[in-house]
Amino acid sequence: MKSVLSILGAILLCTLGLFTDSVAESNQITVFSNVRLFDGEQLIESASVVVRGTRIDLVAGGGEALEIPDGAELIIGDGLTLMPGLIDAHTHSFSRGNLERALDFGVTTSIDMWTPVEFMQEMQAERGQGLAFDRADMHSVGIGATAPESHGTQFGPVPTLTRPEDADAFVAARINEGSEYIKIIYDNFKMFDRPIPTLGYSTMEAVVESAHRRDRLAVVHSRDVDAYADVVRAGANGIVHITVDEVPGRELIDGLRRQGMFVIPTLSLSTPSGAGIAEDRVLGPRLSEKESANLRGYAPLHRQGGDKIAMESVRVLNEAGVTILAGSDSPNRGTATGVSIHQELGMLVQAGLTPIQALVSATSAPADAFGLSDRGSIKTGFRADLLLVEGDPSSTIIDTRRISGVWKAGQRHVLDQ
Ligand SMILES: [Zn+2]
Repeated sequence: MKSVLSILGAILLCTLGLFTDSVAESNQITVFSNVRLFDGEQLIESASVVVRGTRIDLVAGGGEALEIPDGAELIIGDGLTLMPGLIDAHTHSFSRGNLERALDFGVTTSIDMWTPVEFMQEMQAERGQGLAFDRADMHSVGIGATAPESHGTQFGPVPTLTRPEDADAFVAARINEGSEYIKIIYDNFKMFDRPIPTLGYSTMEAVVESAHRRDRLAVVHSRDVDAYADVVRAGANGIVHITVDEVPGRELIDGLRRQGMFVIPTLSLSTPSGAGIAEDRVLGPRLSEKESANLRGYAPLHRQGGDKIAMESVRVLNEAGVTILAGSDSPNRGTATGVSIHQELGMLVQAGLTPIQALVSATSAPADAFGLSDRGSIKTGFRADLLLVEGDPSSTIIDTRRISGVWKAGQRHVLDQ
């Protein structure tokens, strides 16, 4: 039997302890009542959300009478904001531990931008067996397309390519081993005064074309305006770093926008912003010594001033309407897994995104860009990947750091320090 109660009645009954019995995991019901809601696109000052099992069952306006099912866990939204679990669009996960740590900070999906094939396959096999409640989901490029002696090869022996005619076999092999997206390294590190080889233009373009023929997104690692221009010309879907040599000019910006390309700036990697996270009043105490040390260990991969160019580049791209996605590039130096999504959100706002735009960049926008159609928004039928925070991150972005609860596919995650 179900009880039909007003919100007020529900609050009263909850305080009397009538909703504390938990129900079977698969039918678990959680009701968030009168909570401030960021639904992935916009802010709603007061709403109620019902989660049933792994899915969002109902989203109702605040103050509406709600049917509170027997056995539901009731969470009163006073002073809290409910939002979709965060999607970090540029990570490197090497172990289950990385993905568990990501969930501790509200990251429910990690888009991995290079990881050993065996680990990717292990995570994919688990995905095939059902939901992982204790860690972020990982969707991965596997290993990327790169030239001999180029970026990426330092992570261990990987297949490389040098000629356009090898591109299709290369892409087919990646898809065959499980790559969900095709990543390409197109960066000769010229802005680092330590140039290295990279793919030639025609090979990079051939990889993009092959990825598209095989129904995969093509994303490119590039960090200078000349490479950016080439990538736009080749018709890739997105670029996974921001320019650090020059701020993109009008023609380049127009090209990015016209082709509907996205940019994942990874400002956490390109600015000395990690120390501020290590010292953050809320996040600092939750970090291990190793995580703090890594956050403080920023090492610029560009000439002096590149961090300011990165910030200005994000500002002009965002102003022009280019899609920006939040990605931390953790755990590179200057970052740490999970926590750095909050670093990235803070930097994106410093670079000119509104707090709402920043929240979109870590929820609905990456879900759209990477074809994850069951998440990134709080809507009926969507997966209940949720983050509950104190305060209002739609006006004060650093409130995403004040985590009150994390739910992965409807199940509450016990936060590690
Ligand atoms: Zn990366």
